[in-house]
Amino acid sequence: MIYADYNGSAPLCNEVKDYLFKRLEKGPFANPNAIHYLGAKTLMGMENARAVCAKVLGADFDQVVFNSGATEGISHVFHSVLGCDKNTKKIIITSGIEHSAIVNTSQFYANEKGYEVKVVPVNGDGVIDIGILKEWIGQHKNNIAMVSIMAANNETGVIQPYKEMSALCMAAGIPFLCDTTQFIGKTPFNFKESNFDFAVCSGHKLGALTGTGILLVKSPVELKPLIIGGGQEKGHRGGTQNYLGNETLAVALSALNENFKHLDALAAKRTEFEAKIKKAFPSVVVIGENAPRLATTTYISYPGLHGQAVQIELESQDIFVTTSSACSDNMPVTSKVLKAMGIKDDVGRGVVRISLCMNSPLEYYDQLTEALTKAYNKLTKVKSF
Ligand code: PLP
Repeated sequence: MIYADYNGSAPLCNEVKDYLFKRLEKGPFANPNAIHYLGAKTLMGMENARAVCAKVLGADFDQVVFNSGATEGISHVFHSVLGCDKNTKKIIITSGIEHSAIVNTSQFYANEKGYEVKVVPVNGDGVIDIGILKEWIGQHKNNIAMVSIMAANNETGVIQPYKEMSALCMAAGIPFLCDTTQFIGKTPFNFKESNFDFAVCSGHKLGALTGTGILLVKSPVELKPLIIGGGQEKGHRGGTQNYLGNETLAVALSALNENFKHLDALAAKRTEFEAKIKKAFPSVVVIGENAPRLATTTYISYPGLHGQAVQIELESQDIFVTTSSACSDNMPVTSKVLKAMGIKDDVGRGVVRISLCMNSPLEYYDQLTEALTKAYNKLTKVKSF
């Protein structure tokens, strides 16, 4: 069996499983905000986890806010930056390839609060037009409330010019939220060096428990809570913390850090896999091929075939991939991301996304080559190409 949907959700990593078995045996299980001994011990465990997460992510201890995941982190940032009526700046800049968590949230602020959303276009490889971003920042600097653009795309794995984006925003004094949900854990990341004002991640993309996540905040004192509650997380996020889940984030992030050494070998094997498939089937398209991409993602299309048919063929060989982002599965349409890239429908409908993790065995790509070849051969015969 090959699970190749890590961009959708990563299975619990072995380190987290081992940790949880021991942790569940030994306790403590108490409210981390309670003043008794067991509460203090639980709190200590969770704050140790925060220190580990901060270290691995290159952030200060106070810059780590535990939450339920990227969607909450994104909503929190929008609320903190835009939710205040005193904000007189009225433009939000995003890009054409953002996840629905960003698209729908910015649309909400447009509909409900009168913001104008400007969408930076992307090129055919799915890279945002940094020139346009620069131009818009130059033209509208005093009216831009926030820029929110991702670091790596969930469908294509294409890495964006995030350093340039944050430099432009910083120079203009514009808050910059970078959606790092697919970036963190798949390639080295250092929050301080990135100069982002805000970054988000989800535990279930990293091998930690689902329903966990981190919001990284450059200036925590300025952050307004989305959930007020009892002042937990230093007043940034009310509600009793998911201390067990937060501990799994620390374990998973530490384990991932170990795996960065496998990235080069994985990227080379991925290139070999894509080249073999393209040689056997010259009409096959690898989306975002000419752009920097996460080493773990291949988004590949046989124009004219239906991606779901390919997915089902692969599944019959015990290989689990998706056709596009998890939320829009089952929809036989070209995804919004691919449309923004100008990808034609015959290519867009044929894609499958193969997403592994940093320490997936290299042999997986040999098995994928064999399985995809078999699937394409069978389906093209049926369609008599
Ligand atoms: N941003 C990106 C780029 C994603 O890929 C996802 C999930 O797939 C999200 C945000 C939302 O993450 P979650 O559903 O874990 O909150």
